[in-house]
Amino acid sequence: MSELKRVLITGGAGFIGSHLCDKLINEGYHVIAMDNLITGTLKNIEHLFPLKEFEFYFHDVTKFVHIPGKLDYILHFASPASPSDYLKMPIHTLKVGSIGTYNLLGLAKEKKSVFLIASTSEIYGDPLVNPQNEDYWGNVNPIGPRGVYDEAKRFMEAITMAYHNYHNLDIRIARIFNTFGPRMRIDDGRALPNFMVQALKNEEVTVYGDGKQYRSFCYIDDMVEGIYKLMLSDYIYPINLGYPEMITLNHFAEEIIKLCNSKSKIVYKPLPVEDPKVRMPDITKAREILKWEPKITREEGLKRTLEYFKKILKSD
Ligand code: UDP
Repeated sequence: MSELKRVLITGGAGFIGSHLCDKLINEGYHVIAMDNLITGTLKNIEHLFPLKEFEFYFHDVTKFVHIPGKLDYILHFASPASPSDYLKMPIHTLKVGSIGTYNLLGLAKEKKSVFLIASTSEIYGDPLVNPQNEDYWGNVNPIGPRGVYDEAKRFMEAITMAYHNYHNLDIRIARIFNTFGPRMRIDDGRALPNFMVQALKNEEVTVYGDGKQYRSFCYIDDMVEGIYKLMLSDYIYPINLGYPEMITLNHFAEEIIKLCNSKSKIVYKPLPVEDPKVRMPDITKAREILKWEPKITREEGLKRTLEYFKKILKSD
């Protein structure tokens, strides 16, 4: 058995999960990625397959999970995460956040692993305070269309904290805000892939509603660094990770059109039901406890992402 620290990353073939695989391999871990590939793709991790420090399990975590050998960390990142994905897969989204988390907590308890969950800014729902800090309990409609994701993630936090309190499991809770970068699926329906693909094809850029809703966008490398710092910390309570500056979607669409040197014009489409009006993290805790804050500006992040999208569109 390898002497390296061993980490299981569920959702390891997804956007954030695959970047975490890269990061942990680079930091000298033995990485076991697990994915059922319903939203992830092997293309994101193919380059890791030749490494002896890397293993891949094609598995759905809503079924019993077993991994031979020791596991120092479990990072639970499996879930559809874009609103259009979880609207198409509502039951599976609920199951992976609930039953999947329960299965993995059992594994973590057995292996005495540190258990880190990918929670989300969505647990704040359509927030009535801005920016959101970790003490805000949120404004979620449990039976609304986004409830399947929001409530699954809220349950995930609740059961994870219960395992800490009852079984003394060592836990970490990352509340991840909007993140972007290479390996986002070009058709995942989120604002950035839609805008960038539309701008590159000189098609109409679809802004939903009046475009005056606010979001903040964190570049993937910064997000992965934040998650890694959280994993190595001993902080068991939720911690926001995201970019602490917000812009309107109109502004974001314009930035992308300009960056792509595109002839695209903005067109307005109906706002999805219960689309949050504002969302921006208060990252005071991450700054103080993890000594973390994003370093890559949105402009720089968008440039790097554009290179990836150009390459993907060419090979399509
Ligand atoms: N959005 C948009 N046009 C699109 C896709 C999304 O205007 O083609 C808006 C969406 O209504 C939301 C924001 O962009 O207000 C961010 O949406 P996304 O799906 O990226 O993630 P969310 O923040 O809603 O989880």
